[in-house]
Amino acid sequence: MNPSVLDNTPWWLPDVTVAGAGGGVLVQRCDPFGYESEMTGLEGGFYGPAHLGEHMWHCTARADARYRMTCRCGHKGHGTWMCNGHAYMFARRMANICPPCVHPPREIEIQAQMEATRNQAYTMPTLANLDAAHTRLWDLQRELNELVDRGIVHRCPITLQEIS
Ligand SMILES: [Zn+2]
Ligand SMILES: [Zn+2]
Ligand SMILES: [Zn+2]
Repeated sequence: MNPSVLDNTPWWLPDVTVAGAGGGVLVQRCDPFGYESEMTGLEGGFYGPAHLGEHMWHCTARADARYRMTCRCGHKGHGTWMCNGHAYMFARRMANICPPCVHPPREIEIQAQMEATRNQAYTMPTLANLDAAHTRLWDLQRELNELVDRGIVHRCPITLQEIS
């Protein structure tokens, strides 16, 4: 096995079935991090591998139920198999904010434009260029503030729903 794959099985929590994967019985494995990679497609890596550190995490417990993560604005995950332990952890992690809500497309665009403006100014740091960059960055910042004021950029909590 790849040595950088770390075990994240929450075996100390109740109702987590770690045994029973052998014997030729097909069991659905818990895959909590599959959800996070799913979200990566929606938004530039907020929940990507960097978020989890340099290691691959996996859970060896049996999945007990399938969950869908939704936010108030109707963003949905595709459905993730999870053990009771990981479902518990996700429900507790109040910091679960919907990435597409806090980073809508226009916000990602503005961040990219700010980055490009800064890089341009650094490659040719004449006074005129720096001055222009300064004005441009303030315009972009104002637009960002407006997105927040209008509630387009907002923090939406993710809720777990069991799929029956
Ligand atoms: Zn939202
Ligand atoms: Zn698990
Ligand atoms: Zn959302």
